[in-house]
Amino acid sequence: MINSHAHLDFDSMNSIAQNAIAIVPSIGHQNWTDVQMYPYFAFGIHPWLVEIHTQQDLEHLEYLIKCNNPVAVGECGLDYIKNSDKETQLHFFTSQLSIAEKYGLPIIIHAVKATEDVIFLLKKYPKVTGEIHGFSGSEAQAQQLTKMGFYLGFGMQIINQKSSKIRQIVKNCPLEFTLIETDDHPNPNDLQLVAEEISLLKQIPIDTVISQCDNNAITLFNLT
Ligand SMILES: [Zn+2]
Repeated sequence: MINSHAHLDFDSMNSIAQNAIAIVPSIGHQNWTDVQMYPYFAFGIHPWLVEIHTQQDLEHLEYLIKCNNPVAVGECGLDYIKNSDKETQLHFFTSQLSIAEKYGLPIIIHAVKATEDVIFLLKKYPKVTGEIHGFSGSEAQAQQLTKMGFYLGFGMQIINQKSSKIRQIVKNCPLEFTLIETDDHPNPNDLQLVAEEISLLKQIPIDTVISQCDNNAITLFNLT
């Protein structure tokens, strides 16, 4: 079972984290080295951290991407709840979209209260594919994104019975565009719980959920 987004290198992860099969995204220059310990990693600059990064960091990011075979660019994106300057976030996100386009890599996107702007920008890069991880947009945005060929990542938030909006989105999201993840949850092997919840919500067998989500990750990230 492939975890499409897990920060296995974070100190907060418990020890069995090492064994999960996962796409390990980076958040900025502080973990570009650490993530390379895992078979499948990505290089990016997270929107929470743009203010501690420079133009030189963006150039270094591109150099690392060129030389080290990451499976994706990310995580990157826009977060309008965080206090990071909006213009700076837009600059770093569009720069990383350009890098993804240039190197033909998928992009891993963090979007919080910013899905509208993310969709607007993605339309300017029609060749770029990717995923919106930890999807938190609306039903209409989910439909728009999957029609554009983007995958939506769902994690532990869907387990919460009170999260009725996101659970409804999971139910309606085509399984061919669904990815499962645990993000920074300390036990990445709780991925099984996410798959079980999708199986219950969509009323389809768990084995079908797992094999389709695995295939989606293999296709999107071109895993071998
Ligand atoms: Zn993340």
